[in-house]
Amino acid sequence: MMCAARRQSPDCHLVSLSTIDLHSHSTHSDGLLRPRELVGRAAARGVKVLALTDHDDTGGLAEARSAAAECGIRLVNGVEISVTWGGQTVHVLGLGIDPGHAGLASGLAHLREGRRGRAEMIAGGLKKIGVEGSLEGARAYVTNPELVGRAHFARFLVERGYARDVSSVFRKYLAPGKPGHVAHQWASLAQAVGWIAASGGIAVLAHPGRYPMNDAQRDGLFSGFKEAGGHGVEVVTGSHTSRQFHTYARYAQRYGLLASAGSDFHGVGESHRDLGDLPPLPEGCTPVWADW
Ligand code: AMP
Ligand code: MN
Ligand code: MN
Ligand code: MN
Repeated sequence: MMCAARRQSPDCHLVSLSTIDLHSHSTHSDGLLRPRELVGRAAARGVKVLALTDHDDTGGLAEARSAAAECGIRLVNGVEISVTWGGQTVHVLGLGIDPGHAGLASGLAHLREGRRGRAEMIAGGLKKIGVEGSLEGARAYVTNPELVGRAHFARFLVERGYARDVSSVFRKYLAPGKPGHVAHQWASLAQAVGWIAASGGIAVLAHPGRYPMNDAQRDGLFSGFKEAGGHGVEVVTGSHTSRQFHTYARYAQRYGLLASAGSDFHGVGESHRDLGDLPPLPEGCTPVWADW
């Protein structure tokens, strides 16, 4: 099959786009595009190096790799691992992993298994406030039966008119303290970093600006991540403001971490930034791709 990028003309101003995007999602987790469509879109937008980083799952990498070969772009094998640290959920990206590594694969399988029970509890919480049938409703949006996520519940709640968009659903129903919130135990920081390193990848702390933490907690997270063997931090990412690009460039320097950049694209209308829509890393950062 011909690469989508070679069939379509780009719908964007290529000069303002980055050729490297190291954070994206497909239908193997909660993204809206199949791996092949995602890669085609990235290529059409001028991306040359793309990491597919689905939540707790690497099942989309094979299709993405074959599409990337057709489009002439480089695919980085990635994953975004859900972690519990200090009672909060944080995300750790694995870049350059080997999806066939037994330790990584069994760790991710365990996380996906935990999502089943969590989904039932989310549905139970929503039922208490009168939202019926949300588990079945969310499942209608699930494209990987092993990967039920909050985004699938959010899409169902939008469909039923409970909120006008996915972000509003998170604020009103799924955030801590709201009826559909479930305190879930994910992997430990040490486990996630350990699985990534054992499979030959590098661990990158994803979107640190998203975590509601005070300075002491944030320093604790960075220290713990560094002690666990973490390599990098996502400095430029869709959910960071330009001020946060600079804040986390300083964290990278202070903790001796490499800097990464990725859109965290999930689909049109559900993401802050499109594929490759990323400014350069702030000065003084050493990119994770420096020796690629
Ligand atoms: P989960 O891993 O199932 O807890 O879902 C996490 C995913 O939910 C994130 O990767 C985003 O795709 C989505 N998400 C989390 N918070 C928000 C938000 N405030 N607005 C939109 N999507 C969100
Ligand atoms: Mn997501
Ligand atoms: Mn994330
Ligand atoms: Mn993500």
